[in-house]
Amino acid sequence: MTNTEPKPSWAFISVGANLGDRLRNCCLGIATLCADDRVRLAARAPFYETEPVDYTDQDWFLNTAIKVWTRLAPLDLLSHMQAVQAALGRQAGGIRFGPRTLDLDIIFYGDLILKSERLILPHPRLHKRRFVLQPICDIDPTVVHPALGVDVKTLLNQIPEGDQTIQPCSFDCSSFS
Ligand code: ADP
Ligand code: MG
Repeated sequence: MTNTEPKPSWAFISVGANLGDRLRNCCLGIATLCADDRVRLAARAPFYETEPVDYTDQDWFLNTAIKVWTRLAPLDLLSHMQAVQAALGRQAGGIRFGPRTLDLDIIFYGDLILKSERLILPHPRLHKRRFVLQPICDIDPTVVHPALGVDVKTLLNQIPEGDQTIQPCSFDCSSFS
């Protein structure tokens, strides 16, 4: 008997929104992502209100992160995430790093290192972003960046103090589950 189904891999996905009902977009985004039976939610981080970076003339984001186990190959996971972003009202185009109803990024897909036109793994800017690193540390501070060889807690501590304000908030997805 042959079994062609891919082996499940763990992945960390960063979730953010700064347009529309941010909490609703994040929570329904996570729920829709994990409604596929090939994506199983393993852990979710708390939410943070975060100061925009890169393009700063926009409203603050609501950010969190999730850990999943998935049988989708990396590019299939990205396509699935992009379909979920579109379903939650994200328009194509617009300002780079600008306002969005939902942003889903693959931060780690197991220990995979990949550089292709559509997908770079680990995410190329994760080590510079407090709003990505803090929620991943909340789930598991010992995850090691496979290319840099250091854990996410160390990367978070390397961001200069006072740089990129993020504030814990009491939101959760209980009213959307
Ligand atoms: P960003 O999230 O960096 O603000 P976008 O969400 O607009 O930017 O994504 C732009 C492109 O980045 C996507 O079309 C996607 O193909 C590409 N991309 C490359 N690597 C990743 C990754 N690890 N996760 C999500 N998208 C990625
Ligand atoms: Mg993105």
